[in-house]
Amino acid sequence: MGDLRITDITVHLVAWPLRMKRRHGVGDIEHTMPGVILRIGTDGGLVGWGEAAPWAVFTNTAEASAAAISRYFKPLLIGADPMRVTTLMRGIDKAVTAHGDAKAAVEMALLDIAGKRLGAPVSTLIGGRHRERIPLSVSIANPDFDEDLDFARDVIARHGVNIFKVKTGFTSHAEDMRRMARLKEALPATADIRVDYNQGLDPWDAIRQLKEIETFRPTFIEQPVKRHQRAAMAEITRALDTPIMADESVFDPVDAVELVRDRFAKLVSIKIMKAGGIARAREVAAITEAAGITAYGGTMFEAGLAIAAGLHLVSATPNIALGAEFYTSTFVMGVEILATPIRIEAGETIVPDGPGLGVEVDEDAVKRVSIAIEG
Ligand code: MG
Repeated sequence: MGDLRITDITVHLVAWPLRMKRRHGVGDIEHTMPGVILRIGTDGGLVGWGEAAPWAVFTNTAEASAAAISRYFKPLLIGADPMRVTTLMRGIDKAVTAHGDAKAAVEMALLDIAGKRLGAPVSTLIGGRHRERIPLSVSIANPDFDEDLDFARDVIARHGVNIFKVKTGFTSHAEDMRRMARLKEALPATADIRVDYNQGLDPWDAIRQLKEIETFRPTFIEQPVKRHQRAAMAEITRALDTPIMADESVFDPVDAVELVRDRFAKLVSIKIMKAGGIARAREVAAITEAAGITAYGGTMFEAGLAIAAGLHLVSATPNIALGAEFYTSTFVMGVEILATPIRIEAGETIVPDGPGLGVEVDEDAVKRVSIAIEG
């Protein structure tokens, strides 16, 4: 196998049209969502695709993510051997701090190339599949709750979905209690219900409100208070029977070490966009697993490329055992950029088994969502 070199990098700033409104404790999404699609070309003709899914209130802006790739990472990548993923990502980490989603996009595209070159799926490259199918969690986040109940009934009937994550903390506690009661009534008794506040509660009254919410017996309660209010999270974790999950409070392996040390949650949501790629996400999984903290496969507003990367991650990482919310490319994005869309069967997402990310990109669809090209 001869040398392979990176010859060209195209960064698309994109606007994803959305099929539904989404409301969260931390902010709302309507009409379109900004994002980034990355194409890395090589002299061997192999092409790798990556995606960054930034959200300004949570991680990063799409413009910053696109600029990080096109102005700062690109000079480190052009002419380099794409198979040296670890070395290239180390160089990028050294050159630019933060920008986890931009780094995730680059690592994704490099792994896509490496997998295609070796004829192996990314999940095989990172250690091999532990799971072929991942239980799918769908989020209930529409401000129009009746519309969301119809959506829930539809995904149960058509896709066999059995896990629902209710977004709370964006109106009032009384309204959240009403929504939980109606959801319990509408869903089958076997439904696995989880709750995500996205930092929406004030610590002073959080424990009293959460004790009422836990009468609905959710599997876990995610990120009740602000990202940096870890002492309050620790108090809530100790006060409640229901396990508390850290999402915004744990991005990367350094945060994971602090979670293990300070025990401010019993569970963690792992996202490649927070961690800065699959390798870092697996470090978060390893650190937390050693401390008995089980993980969930989280996402941002991700289209098919990022979801495919997430599927390979969860497939090969046993500690991400609480299912994953790999539904956005199928149910939320108004344009599908994969010629081979993510498959959902009997309430589970199927890990793609082709080489690399195992998905084919529809380049015309990419052009339809692209609003600017950088680099
Ligand atoms: Mg969350």
